[in-house]
Amino acid sequence: MTEMEILLDSLNGIYEKVPAFECRDGCSDCCGPVDWPPIEGYNIMQYLKKHDIEPRMTIIKGIEDLCPYWEGKCIIYPVRPLICRQYGVSDMHFLKCPHINPEWEMPLAEVKELNKELRLLDLAFRRVARVDATDLVRPPR
Ligand code: SF4
Ligand code: SF4
Repeated sequence: MTEMEILLDSLNGIYEKVPAFECRDGCSDCCGPVDWPPIEGYNIMQYLKKHDIEPRMTIIKGIEDLCPYWEGKCIIYPVRPLICRQYGVSDMHFLKCPHINPEWEMPLAEVKELNKELRLLDLAFRRVARVDATDLVRPPR
């Protein structure tokens, strides 16, 4: 395994720690413009290349600004970033889903721990990739 493969494997390890749950069909209520660190941008870029999807750099204008990867469903679902996975799994006010009330909410300490793990992994990624964060595909702020 290359260093990069090990890093991406660790990224998936972080994702696997977030409990999965069924969203409401067709719901995009939490799919506003999101930001992600370079390692997640790289992971998404690999997926886009593999599936021949153009990187989207513009916000879809609607009643509210939507994530550019929303097309009636998330078109990068397998590689969606940590923040998207955490939404709805915690009762923290900014992560609480208005529709789903899972019984297995993650305690705040666990949410913070995962975010810390991602930050550390991203630092390692930057060293290995030697890329500027701005080189990677990111949605606009
Ligand atoms: S987490 Fe909640 S708000 Fe977000 S898409 Fe799923 S059902 Fe909708
Ligand atoms: S990446 Fe997917 S899940 Fe996350 S905000 Fe965009 S469309 Fe929604």
